[in-house]
Amino acid sequence: MRYDRSAMCDISRRNLLLATAAATGLGGAAKTQAAAGSAVDQAVSLATDVYFHEGNISEHEHCNNGWIIFKDFVLVIDANFPSGALTILPKIRAISPKPIRFAFDTHHHGDHAYGNQVWVENGATPVAHTGVIEEMKRYETGYYGGAPGRWEDTAKTRPDVAASHLTPPSVLFPKELYFDDGVHRVELLHLGVAHTHGDAVAWLPKERILFSGDTCVNGPYNFVGDGNVEKWIATLDMAKKLGATVVCPGHGPKSEAAVLDDQQTFFRQLRESVGKRVNAKKSAKEVYAAIPQIREELTSQPQIARYVDKDGIIAQLEKVYLEMTGHGFPDELKASHSARARHRRSHSLEALALGA
Ligand SMILES: [Zn+2]
Repeated sequence: MRYDRSAMCDISRRNLLLATAAATGLGGAAKTQAAAGSAVDQAVSLATDVYFHEGNISEHEHCNNGWIIFKDFVLVIDANFPSGALTILPKIRAISPKPIRFAFDTHHHGDHAYGNQVWVENGATPVAHTGVIEEMKRYETGYYGGAPGRWEDTAKTRPDVAASHLTPPSVLFPKELYFDDGVHRVELLHLGVAHTHGDAVAWLPKERILFSGDTCVNGPYNFVGDGNVEKWIATLDMAKKLGATVVCPGHGPKSEAAVLDDQQTFFRQLRESVGKRVNAKKSAKEVYAAIPQIREELTSQPQIARYVDKDGIIAQLEKVYLEMTGHGFPDELKASHSARARHRRSHSLEALALGA
């Protein structure tokens, strides 16, 4: 087995962003977003009592958050890292004096669930799909009595994690959980395997707002190591059927329903690029050698160009290749890739894709 202890969607995001900023040929959508400016670290009202907060990913690796103010309490969407939780806590308090009762982890990754203890200390209970616990048992081995897992690894580089402790969600739902006080309704839904095996989304049917977690991101943030790209495409179909008019992704700016299509199209293109070469009996070596060409093909499509990360795409293509053939790219090829050494030093996505 490959080393995968530090495999998390959050670890290499900073590198992803830097790599993306350095990459040339960004598509129209990405340029438009950059020109439009960013609402990072600001609470934005989406509807009465419904808020979105775009996390500061480039500096702190924070995920996006949402919160809904019910009659008697506040529900927060995603626990974030501890420092991310502490960033939004005063913002929620400034808006509402009501108790924050629940923090919903959209999945088990550190940037979405490691802040659970902060919420507990502030009176909230972490809530999640049962798959989050199953994933934690797989990767948070230290917590469950085994060898140090991802938490311990992350604590080496993040003081906020080192100063807290892992608190798995304690209110669990196998498929769906509804919050409904007659005014607001929030449906927590497990739609299928996607970014992990335990993703769930928060759907607000009255406002037609979807908080997607990392089932949908808006930018070069797709980490595929813990999920399944083929099933993810089908799960995005389920998300599209909800009929959202506003989509708050796990990372990147809030958007409209089209972002679900964009993310899905990106994955379909990944599978098409790899699939046609697999069908043509190309070897792993040949598929690997085609990566620069595939990258060009994807970057030339305005709809999905913003999802293409110069280095991250290697792990994404390898994951797709693994799903199609049962094996990854040969080690000797990757060892010769100059980016690999750099990646290894920073817990690379490239090395991580095979961990799942
Ligand atoms: Zn994640």
